Amino acid sequence: MVKIHKSDDEWRAELSDDEFHVLREAGTERPWTGDLLENTREGIYRCRACGAELFRSDTKFDSHCGWPSFFTAQNNAVTLLEDVSLGMIRTEARCATCDSHLGHVFPDAPQTPTGDRYCINSVSLTFSSEEDLEAEASGKRPFDKGEGFADPATGPYGRIPGDG
Ligand SMILES: [Zn+2]
Repeated sequence: MVKIHKSDDEWRAELSDDEFHVLREAGTERPWTGDLLENTREGIYRCRACGAELFRSDTKFDSHCGWPSFFTAQNNAVTLLEDVSLGMIRTEARCATCDSHLGHVFPDAPQTPTGDRYCINSVSLTFSSEEDLEAEASGKRPFDKGEGFADPATGPYGRIPGDG
């Protein structure tokens, strides 16, 4: 896997203040405020800093903790480290590609297949829905109108199939 290394100045140029604080200074967004907390659409969650695929929607669950929660990460996408800050021993989750802080992992989710809760800041993630991914794969942007729309060059009736 190719690792991404950037200086703080480079990250600051790419990230908002909130994003920089969480991703690069191991900050924590306020609970119940994240954009992705209530997101239940199908798709993938990527690292906001580098775009690496980290989590899938089918591992997201409602933990009532105030942050998006997943019971597992994509293979080798997330690095786990011991974090002894704040007088607690916790497991920190970082992006394996760019070493950005994502959140913490707690073994307190017996209702899930793994028992783990990856408690992840919304601000560390971007979400791509299945439709977004299909649009990406087909090279179309989501706002493209597709076929069947009148082409200004050929008038309101469009092209006749086989013509031209
Ligand atoms: Zn990353």
